Amino acid sequence: MGLEVHAHLLTNSKLFCGCSTKFGAEPNSHTCPTCMGLPGALPVLNRKVVDFAIKLGLALHCDINRRSIFARKNYFYPDLPKGYQISQYEEPICENGYLDVFMGDTKKRIRVKRVHMEEDAGKLVHESTIETSSYSMVDYNRSSVPLLEIVSEPDIRTPEEAILYLKILRDVLIYLEICDGNMEEGSFRCDANVSVRRKGEAILGTRAELKNLNSFRSIERSLDYEITRQIELIKKGGEVVQETRLFNVDEGITYSMRGKEEAHDYRYFPEPDLLPLVVDDGWIADVRKTLPELPIEKMERFMNEYGLPKYDVEILSSDKGLAGYFEETVKIFPEPKTVSNWIMTELLRELKDGNVSPKDSPLSPAHLAELLALIKDGTISIKIGKEIFPELCKSGASPKRLVADKGLVQISDETAITSIVEAVIARSPKEVAEFKAGKEKLLGFFVGQVMKEMKGKANPKLLNELLLKRLKD
Ligand code: ZN
Ligand code: MN
Repeated sequence: MGLEVHAHLLTNSKLFCGCSTKFGAEPNSHTCPTCMGLPGALPVLNRKVVDFAIKLGLALHCDINRRSIFARKNYFYPDLPKGYQISQYEEPICENGYLDVFMGDTKKRIRVKRVHMEEDAGKLVHESTIETSSYSMVDYNRSSVPLLEIVSEPDIRTPEEAILYLKILRDVLIYLEICDGNMEEGSFRCDANVSVRRKGEAILGTRAELKNLNSFRSIERSLDYEITRQIELIKKGGEVVQETRLFNVDEGITYSMRGKEEAHDYRYFPEPDLLPLVVDDGWIADVRKTLPELPIEKMERFMNEYGLPKYDVEILSSDKGLAGYFEETVKIFPEPKTVSNWIMTELLRELKDGNVSPKDSPLSPAHLAELLALIKDGTISIKIGKEIFPELCKSGASPKRLVADKGLVQISDETAITSIVEAVIARSPKEVAEFKAGKEKLLGFFVGQVMKEMKGKANPKLLNELLLKRLKD
């Protein structure tokens, strides 16, 4: 399999005009003569798009071509007012890169053939009502919104690998802050070229292209289906034909949409309205300075520096803000695994419930560190810590203050606990007898009774010791 990803760029304006790229506006409100393809309107390249293309190219270890050219890709479709899409063909801006993906514990390298800049098409909206027959409307807001197309070599062997590659590529785009990765809004779209070959054969079989895959789930399902379809077909003596196929989510099958065009069908030729793009070393060096630590680098550093397992590291590095939150907390409370556990379970649950991103969390890293310190020094129990967690996440209050205000300080006073232990034992002769007869799991019953009376504040370790000592007397 080889994958082609189209990523919408987070620029404010379009690729060749000053119109807004904002999603969801009133149809045709973000348009001008240039992006509607009116005769005589000329394109002017958006410099920011070039910055972003170089940035991704560097992150994917590509060669950045000092000279690249824009080309016209000709085809007719009502959402393409010019009758051609401005893209790059023979000389794209980035070539020959790669992306490393974790497959279990080993890294696999997927080669990236090219990254090029191109404009998006508009959007057709199909309607049908009882009164009218079905009809279509066109919205040119998306026309000429900047895209990067990222084309991999056919290095991907299983649907699982495809998903891992796509997820890490999406993370990279988000880390670089050049694409929001939103699949529902179409900011990150994937097409897949799939072929099969007999074991031992060197040459890849004829490929079919799957279009419009807009969720990780549907990508995985459609690849699974398509691989099986091609194998069955060949086993029955049939032949795979080169074509474009669509995946039907409801039926879970792919079906033929059209015969696949070859590149020459598009009559590519250099765009005469745009000069060749020349990028000098200084420009590339400037962009290189803006590169952040990338997800895979962060994962490896977190494993080495903090000794965290890969499972934790994958979750923490899946969001730049979350990774930063973790590191800030560890700076104050230097027990990485404990911090990671609380973040992965308690914090992520609360953030998800409140639909808040880690960097906007009302519970600050300093406060999480404070909470963990209160537990560590025995001021409160883990149980109390978990109980007050949702409130801390909502209010942003200091854990120390909340614990003091609510009188939640753990009781580690032996005399105080012993008196409750005695009371519970005195009123539970039946359970005491059963415990002494060997039903040791009743210890939980006694712990529960004492905790209930002490409102959960008894030091659990001490309570256990005192109970055992008393019951085994
Ligand atoms: Zn425009
Ligand atoms: Mn494309």
